[in-house]
Amino acid sequence: NVNIIPDSLNESEDEHSVIIFLKDLTEIYKTQQFKSDFVANVSHELRTPLQSIKLGLETINDGHASNDFEMQKKFLPIMMQQTERMENLINDLLSLSKIELQEHIRPTTELDLKEIITHVIKLNSELVKKKKIKIENNITDDTYKISGDRNRLIEIFTNLIDNACKYSDSDTVIKISLVKKMDTILFSIKDQGVGIPKKYLSRITERFFRVDPARSKDAGGTGLGLAIVKHIVNQHRATMDIISTEGKGTEFTIEFPKV
Ligand code: ADP
Repeated sequence: NVNIIPDSLNESEDEHSVIIFLKDLTEIYKTQQFKSDFVANVSHELRTPLQSIKLGLETINDGHASNDFEMQKKFLPIMMQQTERMENLINDLLSLSKIELQEHIRPTTELDLKEIITHVIKLNSELVKKKKIKIENNITDDTYKISGDRNRLIEIFTNLIDNACKYSDSDTVIKISLVKKMDTILFSIKDQGVGIPKKYLSRITERFFRVDPARSKDAGGTGLGLAIVKHIVNQHRATMDIISTEGKGTEFTIEFPKV
């Protein structure tokens, strides 16, 4: 963007000069592009399940099928699943927008990470059992105090345990640990799942980025989980690292500052 303004301060007749303002609009265009990509992604993510629900309703509502209970039995579970998918997406979008606004507000409540993680493992025990996955809780008896927001931390651990299950096969093990370091506490969750190709590692916390979209969607994924995790990690002034080997498994570590 270039604005050229005649230099009215220069009164001399034979010397014509101008002041040129240069403004780099790259960042503004980038933000606009980001916003419009986001809206396009959200619309697409909502339209797909909506179309599937609409098709189910049209079929059931059709003159021939309205008394066909077999047909209804076939379509109702699909419609339920797609409704749940839309609900998950809306919940994640709300969560993401809230955490983005609060990211700069550092939580100050003193909390014990061991208590929170044990609670989340219990909350997810049904999901884990259903998939015949074993969670190995290697957290030793101690207190692991940080300054945090309990509900947000529950969101982090729920997302990471949920992902470890979604991207692992049955009869595998998920190992969870906490290690006290000098100034920090190191949380780790390690699975024996499909792993993440190296070239995608830097992108998996982006909104709607999925390595295998079909697997994510079949498992009820929204593509927003890790984006939410990243913001909560930032809010806690923590750092997250991901180590992964394709076909072998993935380890997420988060290093929280101690109180
Ligand atoms: P989703 O709802 O798709 O799981 P996330 O934001 O939680 O969205 O994760 C983004 C992508 O990162 C996933 O679609 C998947 O491809 C990959 N991913 C996340 N966690 C794991 C994991 N533990 N093992 C393998 N891939 C993973």
